Amino acid sequence: MKITAIETHVCHARMRNWIFIKVRTDQDGLWGWGEATLEWHTRAVVGAVEDLSQLLLGEDPRRIEHLWQMMYRQHFWHGHGIVRGTAISGIDLALWDILGKHLGVPCHQLWGGPVRDSIRLYCHLGGGKLEDFYGTPTTDAKRFADLARQAVADGFTAFKSMAVPSTMPLEGRRPIRQAVACVAAMRDAVGDDIDIMVDCHARPSPAMGVQFAHALEPFGLYFLEEPCWPENIDGVAQVQHATTTPIATGERLISQHPFRELLEKHACQVLQPDITHCGGLTEARRIAAMAEAYRVTLAPHNPQGPVSTAASLQFGLATPGYLICESVHQDVPWRHDVVSESFTVEAAGRLVRPGTHPGLGIEINEKELAKHPFQQEIIQRSFNPDGSVSDW
Ligand SMILES: [Mg+2]
Repeated sequence: MKITAIETHVCHARMRNWIFIKVRTDQDGLWGWGEATLEWHTRAVVGAVEDLSQLLLGEDPRRIEHLWQMMYRQHFWHGHGIVRGTAISGIDLALWDILGKHLGVPCHQLWGGPVRDSIRLYCHLGGGKLEDFYGTPTTDAKRFADLARQAVADGFTAFKSMAVPSTMPLEGRRPIRQAVACVAAMRDAVGDDIDIMVDCHARPSPAMGVQFAHALEPFGLYFLEEPCWPENIDGVAQVQHATTTPIATGERLISQHPFRELLEKHACQVLQPDITHCGGLTEARRIAAMAEAYRVTLAPHNPQGPVSTAASLQFGLATPGYLICESVHQDVPWRHDVVSESFTVEAAGRLVRPGTHPGLGIEINEKELAKHPFQQEIIQRSFNPDGSVSDW
């Protein structure tokens, strides 16, 4: 069997351009789908996939580990940057899809079979609608409470919010009071049986991250995400060591190496590799194996498109340390025109039940996706009140 073509299909989905990868083979009707969505870097990833594909054309797509080693190590530059890591990931997902289809089994069967019967989904406030999740100001605690109630009414037992405002490296009580008011309002609205997550988007400095973690501790967050820059692993560790709240991080870390450091430094209690960035399912499985030794759980980052979700679910079905799957369901109204999925979601509790289709268990409708060609993502420029640059 030989790889005959590696294509990129870009589909504009409002906040991001989904980049789907289609790896074609010389076998009739056999191809694989992957995803390599990277907001604000769409053109770069499409180019990186074209560069990498020169290594793979004519190769046997079933030699996934061998091809992964080629993609990561050859041509001198290793694949631990965000653009190349994403390109490798997208191709890797498509190769696993091909292998599963070739053998007639879902991908999780290739990795030892299911270790659980279902996977719980969590949502973003607003279901992934840009304005609700990113645009609700932390001065509006009531709106946070209303959106939290809506998430529970939609069947979710866990949701994520952006209840921590952007701050200078050091600020007084105002931002802390706002975050506390928002989280208190959400907790009041949904009670103790619902899991609430707060994503700091790595806006705080480690010093502010410690203060937010300390102030939010009484509300029993499921986890507090990216409390400071993820590349400063000592900073993340500083926050984790100062709080009993589980710290989550990893969505911007590429390859196994920074995850090893996170684990060695006991810097977090939840790893969030993004399967479409970290090096694909091949590298995510290595990260999960390391995490297993530390009994650290995984909640892979997944706000992108439907191939990313399918891959995360296949991974979760075969990975004992997998905790919960991130999901967006209201990013674009035509999500399910573009994809057909084999798994089902129970409306009450938002539990995913696995399907039986081979590979990743999805098919992409190329005609539908072509209705949404590339558009420039909305440019985000974020500044502090004094005009200096802040994190988005
Ligand atoms: Mg995040």
